[in-house]
Amino acid sequence: MADRPVRPKDRFLVFGSPMIEEAEINEVTDSLRKGWLGTGPKVAQFEDAFRAYKGAPHAVALSSCTAALHLSMLAADLKPGDEVITTAMTFCSSVNAIIHAGATPVLVDVDSRTMNVDPARIEMKITPKTRALLPVHFAGRPCDMDAICDIAARHNLLLIEDCAHAIEAEYKGQKTGLFGDFGCFSFYVTKNIITGEGGMVLTRREEDASNIKVLALHGMSKDAWKRFKDEGFVHYYVVSAGYKYNMMDLQAAIGIHQLKRIDQYWKKRKAIWRRYDEAFADLPVDRPAEPEPDTRHAYHLYTILVDEKKTGMERDAFLDALHGHNIGAGVHYMSIPEHPFYRDTFGWKLDDYPNAVSIGRRTVSLPLSAKLSNDDVEDVIEAVRLILQR
Ligand SMILES: *Cc1c(COP(=O)(O)O)cnc(C)c1O
Repeated sequence: MADRPVRPKDRFLVFGSPMIEEAEINEVTDSLRKGWLGTGPKVAQFEDAFRAYKGAPHAVALSSCTAALHLSMLAADLKPGDEVITTAMTFCSSVNAIIHAGATPVLVDVDSRTMNVDPARIEMKITPKTRALLPVHFAGRPCDMDAICDIAARHNLLLIEDCAHAIEAEYKGQKTGLFGDFGCFSFYVTKNIITGEGGMVLTRREEDASNIKVLALHGMSKDAWKRFKDEGFVHYYVVSAGYKYNMMDLQAAIGIHQLKRIDQYWKKRKAIWRRYDEAFADLPVDRPAEPEPDTRHAYHLYTILVDEKKTGMERDAFLDALHGHNIGAGVHYMSIPEHPFYRDTFGWKLDDYPNAVSIGRRTVSLPLSAKLSNDDVEDVIEAVRLILQR
């Protein structure tokens, strides 16, 4: 039987489509009218606001979370041969950043329930070359930070948190991104708040923040940033071969207003997450685990696991069927060792990461954006139920 579109609107529901409001549009227009597009006062304002929101000592806005991860590891002075431990269930950029920093990525399998890196398995991968841990708060669920901080302290390891999913997350009252040396955030279009492309790094030490600023702007001495203020002619000196990772005022213009609504958007996503959870309780799919007590989940992704043995349908067929109902979904993610480059380069074997591989082959992320209307949410629910009850 052909799939009959159930959405009343003849409109494809784009996965991860962001909420953009008038204030952002006006602020971007203001930048355009003033003619100041690049790094300037709005970037400084966004950094201040983000630092205040997180209660962080130092914040540097960058062009992406990937840049934030890369520069954190450069500021930490990782050397070739140093090993950085991360999770097998993450976006490729967590791993690529380690490679770009000249270090060697070491993967650890996840806990099948939380989908976060399993601390017991981290211990088994530590060698004399291990220099850093790079946990990812997957889908917005904070990792087991007591165990991870304990491992980092006992083995004297740097701690770099990938908070791309987890701006709002907290673990036992402490905000994510502040547990270790560096916390890296993304404002990519599908993330919880957005600047289009964009990222932020929080650092504990002033020196790390200032090194990152230099590296983010061609390796020009710190004074070069004054060129972005109205202070007359300023010479700069290049002190290292840096990168082009600065954020633009056009991006910060969006972020300043998004950040004001971060809790409003969080509450909306939480309500949708809860609604899905109740609507799918009787279906033959695994739903996300309940958030752990004494934590704050950032509700970035709502993932179901479509297992052919339980549903009679493969994950990819389910994705196609959803598409047939005019609903866009995501896959977060195919596990890292599934990608040929990493397998070929590091010799990673699928059998060594059974939980991540199994999740990666079954997972589907349903739309979970603050932009969704109640009708959109009910359309998603109706489509999922129709597909799985056939
Ligand atoms: C999106 C994402 C990144 C990269 O963020 P960008 O800002 O696009 O560079 C890194 N890690 C995870 C887990 C992500 O989801």
